[in-house]
Amino acid sequence: MYLIFFFFFQELHAHLSGSISDETILKLLGTKDASLSEDIIEEMKSILKMKDKRSLEECFKIFSLLHTLTNSISNIKTCTYDVIKEFSEDNVWYLELRSTPKNVIGSYTKEDYIKAVLETVKLLMIISIKAVLKTKCNSLYIHREAEKSFGIIVRILISIDRSRGVEDAWDTLKIVKELRNNVVYKKYIRGIDVSGNPSKESLLEYLPILREVREMELKLAVHLLELCESVAFEEAAEIFSEGLVDRIGHGTFLNQKLSGETSNLVNVVLERKIPLEICITSNIKCGTVKDLASHHVNWWKNKDHPIAICTDDKGVFSTTLSDEICLYCKAVDGDIQDVMDMISTSIEASFLDENEKQDLKQRIFNYMKNVV
Ligand code: 5GP
Repeated sequence: MYLIFFFFFQELHAHLSGSISDETILKLLGTKDASLSEDIIEEMKSILKMKDKRSLEECFKIFSLLHTLTNSISNIKTCTYDVIKEFSEDNVWYLELRSTPKNVIGSYTKEDYIKAVLETVKLLMIISIKAVLKTKCNSLYIHREAEKSFGIIVRILISIDRSRGVEDAWDTLKIVKELRNNVVYKKYIRGIDVSGNPSKESLLEYLPILREVREMELKLAVHLLELCESVAFEEAAEIFSEGLVDRIGHGTFLNQKLSGETSNLVNVVLERKIPLEICITSNIKCGTVKDLASHHVNWWKNKDHPIAICTDDKGVFSTTLSDEICLYCKAVDGDIQDVMDMISTSIEASFLDENEKQDLKQRIFNYMKNVV
């Protein structure tokens, strides 16, 4: 399986705050930011030591601590830059990074937050554009070549946190709509993610929001069935019946029975081939899946269903995409061909345009022909 190190991957499910590495946390703590209290710094340091198993609930506590780190525009930019760089170093050629815009009174608004993330992606592109500017070609070509020369293409999903309430979600959508009037921002913002603590609000409350996302012609990825509760099945049923979702985050209990009844949701997902974003380490560390042997990835793989192997929160769960791909191989007893197939289906499942997908596929398979 050492060949894994010669592969190039796509990451379709990475939350910005959860992806912040220990190195970046230590760097930011070291800057002695006046707004970080000693208590927060101590708590943050103890998080760094807690690399073992935590419940889903405990993970959400960690996220709110991590949010205190992104308390300034400059810290948001540092975290975004470092996360993209680390994915690139882990052989990720295409990254869909998602994040929930926040506002910090007296420091920044939600709009500032999104712009800080987008401007960092743009800055990386400008660095790369300088490398290809000498070529005499049109600007679109330059942009494409620049993405290739930096080695990573980044697109952004704006997250709606279900625990923040519907008003907050409408506010976020309004900002996204306005920002997409800017042609560069429109290129980067590909879709909306719905995440946040699944034991809080029901997604049924969010249906009008999801319909609006569709109207805006944005792609939609929704965290579904992370918990085995009847409300989770109800909300998924409603979302599927309206055909609202393009990709499913986790879907951990989708193929399971609720109180002895078999759900027919799984058949809808199989028939429509709605891709699943699978995050093995995250599921095991949160305790929603017991161990690798019982992970649902095997079930979906056996059904030949489109899946994308992802990290979820590489910082919080101390993982990398390469590690996740190795775990995938172990879980399904897979070989190089299985990895190639998974890479191919996850490009198809990405929120890139058709021609961008073809470009990426060709680039990856041309490269791999020479290696494998
Ligand atoms: P952020 O949006 O702040 O960049 O990334 C952290 C946020 O992502 C968390 O506060 C949470 O809303 C969401 N998140 C990260 N991992 C998970 C997960 O496994 N399940 C769900 N439902 N949400 C998650």
